[in-house]
Amino acid sequence: MTVTSPQALPLILDVVEVVDVHRLSPSFVRVELGGACLAEFGTGGPLCDQRFKLVFPGDSGELPDFSGATQSWFASWLDIPAEKRGHMRTYTVREVRGSGPETRIVVDIVLHLGAGEHGPGADWAARAKPGDRLVTLAPRAGQAFGGVEFVPGEATELLLVGDETAVPAIAGILRDLPAGIRGAAFLEVPVAADFLEDVIAPSGIELVWIARDQAPHGEQLHAAVLAHLGTEGQSAAFLAAEPDEIDPDLWETPTYSSSGEAIEEIAGAGEAPVLPHAGLYAWIAGESGMVTGLRRALVRGLEIDRRQVAFMGYWRRGVSMRS
Ligand SMILES: Cc1cc2nc3c(=O)[nH]c(=O)nc-3n(C[C@H](O)[C@H](O)[C@H](O)COP(=O)(O)OP(=O)(O)OC[C@H]3O[C@@H](n4cnc5c(N)ncnc54)[C@H](O)[C@@H]3O)c2cc1C
Repeated sequence: MTVTSPQALPLILDVVEVVDVHRLSPSFVRVELGGACLAEFGTGGPLCDQRFKLVFPGDSGELPDFSGATQSWFASWLDIPAEKRGHMRTYTVREVRGSGPETRIVVDIVLHLGAGEHGPGADWAARAKPGDRLVTLAPRAGQAFGGVEFVPGEATELLLVGDETAVPAIAGILRDLPAGIRGAAFLEVPVAADFLEDVIAPSGIELVWIARDQAPHGEQLHAAVLAHLGTEGQSAAFLAAEPDEIDPDLWETPTYSSSGEAIEEIAGAGEAPVLPHAGLYAWIAGESGMVTGLRRALVRGLEIDRRQVAFMGYWRRGVSMRS
């Protein structure tokens, strides 16, 4: 059997430590993570919506040991008893600070305060303090990792839409946007105190914050996006996605389809027909039910070309992530 040393894995899979914790607002906790392994961090391009993973300690309080991990580390990890393997969740690299052994990853974690029971990620963030340890799975410099879904191509108009879990990704996209692109970003967060001052839109991009307050998740966001696209009269009809229609793992981008849609059909072999909103690129992420409703409204209702939109279910209300 060939055993690959952890250093040879095409990603960082190692322990990091909380260096700093800052409660940004009622719903967001900003955590700065450090560790010698992060000297190897690198993406080879702008971060935009770069995702990475964190493994939080399990019920036993232990972290899984990935030392000596091989390419089959994921299967080996799933073989560890549930209470000892911890909980793996996906987050966005909000910012990278420092360099070399002092490299820090900054992550903004949502507390999901209004979502009923809290999952392990939100629970961990609510109690995080300097010195806490967790495992990260992150891009290693010089190695292909993927994890950036924002690919606007030749788009001339941009539409960014997200709930609180997508705020870090949209903040990163806005920070790293190429000059000259125009459009709008719509962010729905639990309360107005969650409007974050360090989300900065460049000129040409309208930034719209929406406080959900007592309204159903995504209802106001849905209406605002359809009004922006010039179809506000249709919003109510499009809103309610049936529970059995919602895929918690919804991930439909121009290069991947969680529903099994043929990629060549998405990519299109020949010349694209001229459909409404030509020139638009839409990036939509957040709670899967909210994203499903917007997908139906944009692709089925407004007949926006499937190749111009990335729809990503980042989490599902009431459904704890499997791993
Ligand atoms: C590419 C990507 C990037 C992301 N970036 C970020 C980011 O930067 N910041 C961020 O905060 N999130 C981000 N997310 C979303 C993040 O992964 C989820 O918020 C996270 O998985 C929630 O984990 P959790 O352990 O708190 O809740 P989970 O365990 O996943 O539970 C989800 C929801 O299920 C319900 N639930 C959980 N446990 C129970 C239970 N026992 N009984 C009943 N209901 C329950 C709750 O409603 C809970 O909020 C991202 C996701 C993706 C895919």
